[in-house]
Parts: sequence; C-alpha cells; structure tokens
Amino acid sequence: MRDDRREGELMSVLTRWRVWRATRGEGGGGGEAGAVLTLKELRDAHACGPQVDRFRETFGDRVVVTEALVLRWARWFDVQWAARRLLGGVAAYTALYDDLRRESGIDQMKHGYGETGDQCETCEAERKIAAVAFARRFIAERG
Ligand SMILES: [Zn+2]
Repeated sequence: MRDDRREGELMSVLTRWRVWRATRGEGGGGGEAGAVLTLKELRDAHACGPQVDRFRETFGDRVVVTEALVLRWARWFDVQWAARRLLGGVAAYTALYDDLRRESGIDQMKHGYGETGDQCETCEAERKIAAVAFARRFIAERG
C-alpha cells in the first residue's frame, strides 16, 4: 500500500513537471505572442451569460489572449466551447491537444484529490493542456 502511494506521488510530481514543460510558452518560455478577443465576439458566438459577465468584469471589452493568460484562467474558462465557437479549425486544435497530452504523459497520471486540494490535480492539468492548445491555435489563426 505504502509503496503504491509513494509511486503515485512520484508519478504525480514527474507528470506535473512534464505538463509544465508541455504547456510552457514556445520559443524559450515567453509565451508572449497574443491575439485579441473581444466581448462582442463572445456575445456573437452566443457565450453564456455568466461567461460574458466574467469576461467584462475581468477584461473589459477586449483582451489579448496569450498562453500565460489562458493558463491563469484555465479553471474558469470553457475551453471546449471556445474551441468549437472561436476557432476556425477544431481539427487542428484537437491534434495539438492530443500531441500535448502525449508529450506530458498525463494519461499515466492517476485521478484523485490531493491531501489539501479541492480539485483533482490531473483534471486540473488536463484543463491547462486544453487551454494552452486553444491559445496556440487561436494565436496561430489570428496572429
Ligand atoms: Zn481527475
């Protein structure tokens, strides 16, 4: 039992590092590239009311989408919706998302709540991977 748990913890640390590496900004960790997303676009794409309100309260009428930004907001951001409604090509997003999953090794990571956390760490890491895949495609399409 104890060995299993230590192995699980080690895997968790390793995978967290790999997720971090996979989601770090391209070209040496800046992730500085960005592309504008407006409140009007969200409304036009029929984003839900609470998401529109949160966007307006947080960013005003526009924001420059960067990898760093989506990572910060990954927990609140509906990436699946955004990929379908805000990207021109969902297939390219899905391919990139799958690549990042493979690169991070996240499929070997167990799901579960940490000792203190109220969120499953693996699901949280998956949200980050999805968010970065979205940001990279969004910027590539518009940048
Ligand atoms: Zn989970």
